[in-house]
Amino acid sequence: MNDLPLPAVSFQGVTRRYGAVTAVRDVNLDIAPGEFFALLGPSGSGKTTLLMLLAGFDQPSEGQVLMSGTPISDFPPHRRRIGVVFQNYALFPHMTAAENVAYPLKMRGMPRDERDKRVHAALGIVSLSDRGASYPSQLSGGQQQRVALARALVFGPDVLLMDEPLGALDRRLRDQMQIELKRIQHELGVTVIYVTHDQSEAMAMADRVGIMSGGELLQVADPETIYASPANHFVARFIGECSILRVASFDGGKGYEISGARQLLPTPSTVPFDIVVRPENVVLRSAANPTPMDQFCVSATIRESTYLGSGWRVSIELEDGQSLLANVPRRHELAGNLSDGLKVSATWEPTSVAILPTEAST
Ligand code: ADP
Ligand code: MG
Repeated sequence: MNDLPLPAVSFQGVTRRYGAVTAVRDVNLDIAPGEFFALLGPSGSGKTTLLMLLAGFDQPSEGQVLMSGTPISDFPPHRRRIGVVFQNYALFPHMTAAENVAYPLKMRGMPRDERDKRVHAALGIVSLSDRGASYPSQLSGGQQQRVALARALVFGPDVLLMDEPLGALDRRLRDQMQIELKRIQHELGVTVIYVTHDQSEAMAMADRVGIMSGGELLQVADPETIYASPANHFVARFIGECSILRVASFDGGKGYEISGARQLLPTPSTVPFDIVVRPENVVLRSAANPTPMDQFCVSATIRESTYLGSGWRVSIELEDGQSLLANVPRRHELAGNLSDGLKVSATWEPTSVAILPTEAST
C-alpha cells in the first residue's frame, strides 16, 4: 500500500490516428492533483489532440484516459468535471459577460439563485466583478480571456485545460495574465494542463513540463531538469539557446576530448554522446592571456557578436570547425573588443555540461 493520491489525470498508452496521420503516439503520463502541467511543443506536435481526448471531444484509437483512477471513455464531456479555455475565447457575442459565465450552469439546469451566486464568485476570481453587464465587444482582449476563464471555472471543475490561452494577447498583458493565472490556480487548488508553444511561458508557470514532438511525449520533468538535462537533441534545441558539440570520448566514457582539450565527466557515459553547452556557462578569455596548463580550455576565433543590452552573445569557431555560443558580460575584459577573427580561449565547468545520446543526423 502507498498513500500517494491517485493521479488527477492518467494517459495510459494513448494513441490517436487520423487516417495515415498519427497525431498522438503511445502517450503515458500521470498528472498529480493540484499540479500545474505544461504541454510544450511546436505546432502540429499533438498538444491539442491530447487535450481533446481528455476533454472528451475525441476518443483514442488505442489506450485509455483516467481521472482519479476511473476510466472516462464512457463519460460525455459535460460529465468529466473539466473546464476548457481556448486561445480564441469562444465567447457568445450576443450575451453579456455574466450570461456567458452562467451558460454552463444553465446547461446543467442549475436554479437561478445558485447560478447568480456562482457567476458572481467566478467573476470575482478573475477580477471582473464590475463588468458582468458588459458585452464581449465592450471588453479588451485580456478581459475577454478572463471571462472565458471564469466560464471554465464556474462549475468548480477538478481539471482546467488551457489551449494556448494567452496566444492572442500582447507581451505585457501575457506577463500579467501569467501571474494572475498562477494566483487563481493556487487559490482554487485546481489541476491545470496548459498547452503552449512558448517555452518561456511553460518554464515560468509550470511545476512540470512535457515536451511533445511528432505526437510523442519526449521528456517530462520540472523546468530546471529539462533545461539542465535535456533528454535528446530536440529537447535541448527547443528549450533555451545552446550549442551541441561532437566530441570524442576517452577511457570508455569517463570523459571527452574536443579540439585537443580533455575534460572528465562528473558521471561517465556508457553510450556514445554529444555534449550540450549553454552560452551562459562558457567563459571566454583573450588568447593573449595564458591559461594555467592544467585547466580545460579550447582555442577559438570570434565569428559574430550580437549586443543584448546586458552584454553580448558571441558565436565562436573552434579549431575543429564547430561553432559555440558564449555570453560576454558588460564588464568582461573582451567587452567592446569582439571583432571577427579575434583569437580567444573558451572554458566551461564539467558540471555545466549535459550529455546527449549521439543522433544519426541533426
Ligand atoms: P498542436 O496542437 O500541437 O499544434 P494538433 O494536436 O492540433 O497539434 O495536431 C497534431 C497532428 O494531427 C497534426 O498533424 C494535425 O494536422 C493532425 N490532426 C489534428 N486533428 C485532426 C483531424 N481532425 N483530422 C486529421 N488530422 C488531424
Ligand atoms: Mg493546438
